[in-house]
Amino acid sequence: MTGAGGVQFFWHLFDPRGALLIALIFLPLERLMPTDENQPVLRSGWRTDVAYFLLNRLPAGLGLIVLVVAAVLAGDILVPPTVKASIAALPLWLQVPLLLLLADFVFYAAHRMCHFVPVLWRFHAIHHSAENLDWLAAFRIHPIDQMMTKGMSLIPCFTLGFSEAAVAIYFVFYQWHAILLHSNVRLPFGPLRWVLASPVFHHWHHADDPRAWNRNFGAQLSIWDLMFGTAQMQHDALPRSYGVEGEVPKDYLAQLAHPLRRQRGVGDRIAASEEAPFRP
Ligand SMILES: [Zn+2]
Ligand SMILES: [Zn+2]
Repeated sequence: MTGAGGVQFFWHLFDPRGALLIALIFLPLERLMPTDENQPVLRSGWRTDVAYFLLNRLPAGLGLIVLVVAAVLAGDILVPPTVKASIAALPLWLQVPLLLLLADFVFYAAHRMCHFVPVLWRFHAIHHSAENLDWLAAFRIHPIDQMMTKGMSLIPCFTLGFSEAAVAIYFVFYQWHAILLHSNVRLPFGPLRWVLASPVFHHWHHADDPRAWNRNFGAQLSIWDLMFGTAQMQHDALPRSYGVEGEVPKDYLAQLAHPLRRQRGVGDRIAASEEAPFRP
């Protein structure tokens, strides 16, 4: 995919019809089959997350476009044309799972780094500050965090010769799956959870429980966590509470500025990585 193609690809981030469709699907679904029946639609922090939903696509989208253009240019210089040609020659049904594996591996590594590098955790902690999880909470991501996690995972999409169709399928899957992972929709994955990240899998990633910190880093797949010993596969119960240690402001703009301020206590979760694996 060319740089211009990559930029064009991201224009849909600014299309309000996509946002409307997401709301029209997930609002009724969370009423029809909720995980937590007692969670109201207007739960605490909903105004902040609506602000992310409506406003964040501009700074986050622009950051991603810059990354995509840089990735395309880097790919042109660093990736041998034979590698690109070999991947481009693969049929679509092979390109899509290969891209999913590679992109999710990069996401896993970048996300894990965001939990262990203090300066990155400051930005990523904003995502973890949501105290209630639903479809809307998926949008609470600091633009710098968005570039560090999702942005990094897009690099294989734009450097290795994957077709526009494969990238488009991956990207649509990523968007909808990410919203489902945070939603208050009860959808058991059964044995599929050993390959794909399920809503319960990601809810445990958000648990406000030191025993479950720094687990389940995969975005689409659970296999990288299983392989590298960071999986927490409990599926018959959800965490009692969500959130992050330390004070995080409530408003959108204050949250954007928060990682740039001096903070205390951000090392708590990082130190927890030294502890023994979670045992339910
Ligand atoms: Zn995280
Ligand atoms: Zn999340």
